[in-house]
Amino acid sequence: MNNFHGIELAAGTAAFLARPRRMLIGAEWQDAASGETLPVIDPASGETFCRVPAGDAPDIDRAVAAARHAFEAGEWSRMRPVDRERLLLRLADLLEAHAQEFAELEAIDNGKPVTMARHVDVALSVDFLRYMAGWATKIEGSTMDLSVPLVREREFFGFTRREPVGVVGAIIPWNFPLLMAAWKLGPALAAGCTMVLKPAEETPLSALRLAELVLEAGYPAGVLNVVTGLGHTAGAALASHKGIEKVAFTGSTEVGKLVGKAALDNMTRVSLELGGKSPVIVLDDADPAQAAAGAAQAIFFNQGQVCTAGSRLFVHRSRFDAVVEQLAGIADAMKIGPGIDPSTQIGPLVSNIQRQRVMGYIESGLGEGARAAAGGSAGAGAGYFVKPTVLVDARDDMRVVREEIFGPVVVAMPYEDLDEVARRANDTPYGLAASIWSNDLSRVHRLIPKIKAGTVWVNCHNILDNAMPFGGYKQSGIGREMGRAVLDMYTESKSVVMML
Ligand code: NAP
Ligand code: MG
Repeated sequence: MNNFHGIELAAGTAAFLARPRRMLIGAEWQDAASGETLPVIDPASGETFCRVPAGDAPDIDRAVAAARHAFEAGEWSRMRPVDRERLLLRLADLLEAHAQEFAELEAIDNGKPVTMARHVDVALSVDFLRYMAGWATKIEGSTMDLSVPLVREREFFGFTRREPVGVVGAIIPWNFPLLMAAWKLGPALAAGCTMVLKPAEETPLSALRLAELVLEAGYPAGVLNVVTGLGHTAGAALASHKGIEKVAFTGSTEVGKLVGKAALDNMTRVSLELGGKSPVIVLDDADPAQAAAGAAQAIFFNQGQVCTAGSRLFVHRSRFDAVVEQLAGIADAMKIGPGIDPSTQIGPLVSNIQRQRVMGYIESGLGEGARAAAGGSAGAGAGYFVKPTVLVDARDDMRVVREEIFGPVVVAMPYEDLDEVARRANDTPYGLAASIWSNDLSRVHRLIPKIKAGTVWVNCHNILDNAMPFGGYKQSGIGREMGRAVLDMYTESKSVVMML
């Protein structure tokens, strides 16, 4: 298969699709123990274009055993930090060399626009692996002069070491398949951990291709294992496995709670990056055109399937009509099409289930009295398209205002003053991100501490940087990824006390 929707695939993409797709367990490419497979569906047509193994608990057992062996006994366990750095840099170089191929795999698997996949998903993944490579040689403890009250005739000396946490079970979602894999793999490999990765059932391809590059880069067998399969089978087996030390999960809050409870039963360390309902807050001094363009990018990027999507737009009443009118104009003008087409701005949603879910929200909003200033319906054709939608005349208690839609749907609401907008922005169980649009520094600074969110952007939205910790307040998660902070989640602290 080398042609999708009239677009020729790169040779590397076509070659990958022509190979049998197996799971990487230890040094071997393996089918599921059951022999079962899962379909991989093109969201732009609804057609199955390849299959992957349907891994389950026995496959997870084998993968965990391979990761355990690599962590404790293999070459990896004796590798110097500088060698871990070199390997991560080599992996980043390989990913960069195959950037177009990965962008195409993401576009045909997830549906996202290939241009975005190339310049966001793949570019950020390459940069992130390089950023984490630098940390491999900079993991430090500290030394302390101790004040032990007993045995006063002896001196004591203390120090801490940070040691790799062990075997990591990573469970990731379908919205940024490669990037989410990189966010887990980078710190795990920098810290000296090994990993069993379970990609989302909807988007298994880039993880399998990444596993090929991990072997090509020269990583020892078992450092990365990839098991494709369903969440409630393979995912649940991994989250509750007694043979792992940490679970790194990104996905919905609902599943995150299940995963967190399963991990806690074994006292497995767990980090959770979950859902959001992030506010975009436009103050009365903001330029309506800039705010509308920003709000469009905040919600329509990746078809709104972004945990930090700006899905609630609060605009000061004096600017409300101007911002909504321009935002609706941008939404109506966006080019909808298959992700693999380089001119596409809005691709299909990832799955039929997701389209039905998003359309259900739009219908519930319209049924409760909201009005669509743009969109409000599914796109044409067999693909899972939903038109970019702007809802107005909504009340704060409507489901479209309260629940994560995870699609190209924003609810725009007017407000009167700063205290009111801070209260309404925080009136959600989530707390992942927010953006504030204004050039009035003093009011911006007064608002920032009031917003309960892990990230606050000013005059921008969805800007992530490897050096900035990322994670959620409230039900948006536990822990921080990226930055120096992520190392704490992939290492244990050991305190050593010596009597001299
Ligand atoms: P999801 O349904 O929660 O799935 C996430 C992962 O968990 C998938 O690999 C899924 O497997 C697996 N899973 C499902 N049930 C499981 C179980 N019982 N035990 C263990 N694993 C299980 O989320 P999604 O629909 O893929 O992704 C969308 C969600 O992710 C949104 O809520 C979004 O906000 C969130 N998200 C958060 C961040 C962040 O950093 N905060 C980033 C991206 C996305 P299958 O898919 O194979 O069933
Ligand atoms: Mg899923």
